[in-house]
Amino acid sequence: MQTCSQCNSSSPDQATHCIHCQADLHEFSTTAVALKKFRANPRVKAIRISVANDACSHCYELLQTYPKDEVPRLPHEGCSHENGCRCFYEPVLSEMSIT
Ligand SMILES: [Zn+2]
Ligand SMILES: [Zn+2]
Ligand SMILES: [Zn+2]
Repeated sequence: MQTCSQCNSSSPDQATHCIHCQADLHEFSTTAVALKKFRANPRVKAIRISVANDACSHCYELLQTYPKDEVPRLPHEGCSHENGCRCFYEPVLSEMSIT
């Protein structure tokens, strides 16, 4: 499942464009928007992929932390869950420096 950041509609994992507003989901899904934001933030050192509790085994295997420039796209292509991939990105922040 992908959520459109423009209109909040859900589209299937396979959709390339939002089924409601036709936004390009490679750019405007909520996960794509989050990833872009984390990459642009210098305090984010790495990006972790988190999975839903009932995620499929394929998604669980990919549950790990990635360097910012090697983060795989979501939704995972091989996801076999009936509701599709619901993984999301989480920022790994650098240690706060002395303020
Ligand atoms: Zn939309
Ligand atoms: Zn999955
Ligand atoms: Zn997944």
